[in-house]
Amino acid sequence: MPNSSVGTPDVIVIGAGLSGLETALLLEENGLRVRVLEARERVGGRVYSLSGLPGSPEAGGNTIAGAYGRMIAAGRKYGVELVNRGPRFAAHPIRQELYLGREHIRAEDWPAHPRNPFEEAQRKLLPGAWGRSMLRQNMPFSDLENWHDPRHAAHDVSVYGFLRALGATPAQIALGYETNVPYGTNAHDVSVLQLAFVDHWQAINRRSRVTADSLVGVFRGGNQRLPEAMARRLRGDLLLGQRVQGIETDGSGVAVHCADGRRHRARAVVCALPFTVLRHVAIDPLPPPSQYKAIMTLGAKPITQFHMVPKRPFWRDDGLSPALWTDGVLGSVLANRDADDHDEVTTLTAWVGGAMAQYVDRFGAAEGGRMLVAEYERLRPAAQGQLEVAAVHSWGQDPFAAGTWSIFQPGQVTAFAQSLARPHGRLYFCGEHTALGSRGMEAALESAERAALEVLGDLG
Ligand SMILES: Cc1cc2nc3c(=O)[nH]c(=O)nc-3n(C[C@H](O)[C@H](O)[C@H](O)COP(=O)(O)OP(=O)(O)OC[C@H]3O[C@@H](n4cnc5c(N)ncnc54)[C@H](O)[C@@H]3O)c2cc1C
Repeated sequence: MPNSSVGTPDVIVIGAGLSGLETALLLEENGLRVRVLEARERVGGRVYSLSGLPGSPEAGGNTIAGAYGRMIAAGRKYGVELVNRGPRFAAHPIRQELYLGREHIRAEDWPAHPRNPFEEAQRKLLPGAWGRSMLRQNMPFSDLENWHDPRHAAHDVSVYGFLRALGATPAQIALGYETNVPYGTNAHDVSVLQLAFVDHWQAINRRSRVTADSLVGVFRGGNQRLPEAMARRLRGDLLLGQRVQGIETDGSGVAVHCADGRRHRARAVVCALPFTVLRHVAIDPLPPPSQYKAIMTLGAKPITQFHMVPKRPFWRDDGLSPALWTDGVLGSVLANRDADDHDEVTTLTAWVGGAMAQYVDRFGAAEGGRMLVAEYERLRPAAQGQLEVAAVHSWGQDPFAAGTWSIFQPGQVTAFAQSLARPHGRLYFCGEHTALGSRGMEAALESAERAALEVLGDLG
């Protein structure tokens, strides 16, 4: 990692995830001296590749899709090769086996199955597809890219309320939205406006399904290679292990206080922390009331991942897929394949999300891992003794993330989306949660462009 001192910097960037690194590089390209402070001992933040595991699975940001123009360009600019797994995924899809109440339900039996709570044509939809279908068919407005426009405030209501108003029953919502919940911890704490935009973003990226010409990209060796390459380009200081706990602005600039007692000064500071973490940093003077409320209350989705290495391909014994969609503690289990060999399943990742993540977190990594393997073995006797938990990551309990991605709760799009990233004196904000036109890793880079322009406009 570069660590060359530039003397007193013009700008301090807090956080060396994608948004902080890109902001720092854009500012340096425009002649400013920058220092980056990062709490962890690594860069990348929520982009985190498990390089020690077979196939280097991603514990964080996973897929770079067709509309990720900035991510694709960043790979080229910083010399990291993008591998497209789309054609392979389209030719060799891995379906998920459905388990409800520990009962295995074959896809062909689902439409007439007594556990199916849906009605008429919707009975053909697998549970995970029902919520998406309900939203698409009943989308309350059409200019979805303007999800944050105050004109749409009437739709800034909970997904639960929206689905109930369409006639959905609590049982349908519980299985079709809240089981392996895509956004929020349940259907009550996410706004329809955010979900409408997410659905639109996913649709323009993947259309309805992965085809041979879809981009399902990952950087060779793991997505974390991108932030690492970006960090190597920095000319200024990159200080790891620097947990920021206070930001003080005054007439002559900004002072940043770290947990180890160090104090850094600059003319401006850009904060790239998710609000779930920033709310534990003292800001003096406090931001205006609505921005302060956003910092203190914006949500984030909890996900806990269990990465399991199979000792051998046990799924060939029972002829079923190793990937599962369950309503139990395993959540949704995905089968990860080697970057080049489509036949080899290298690891299985249980994505346990929402309220179920909060439940498994109570057991801790070791006990939680034992519980999940026991559950997998119970559902699939062929897996007996064949799975080893190699890594567990709770994003909800991660002190430097406190969640996976931002969640706008009912009312929060109207209250915060337009104003939450407004500069507060010489304190500027970037990060995935501040982007309006894209999501995830692409949103991190989008936000960096805006923040860098704001700083350059003010500091000259
Ligand atoms: C499980 C998972 C799956 C995902 N899948 C996808 C996907 O498929 N596609 C997609 O586009 N996106 C995906 N994402 C989202 C994507 O990874 C993030 O949106 C993006 O990486 C966020 O970048 P950021 O710079 O905004 O924030 P971060 O990466 O969180 O950067 C913030 C940085 O600040 C640091 N920090 C925190 N607190 C302090 C402190 N007090 N002092 C100093 N530093 C601090 C953190 O350590 C971190 O490095 C996924 C995320 C997760 C967790």
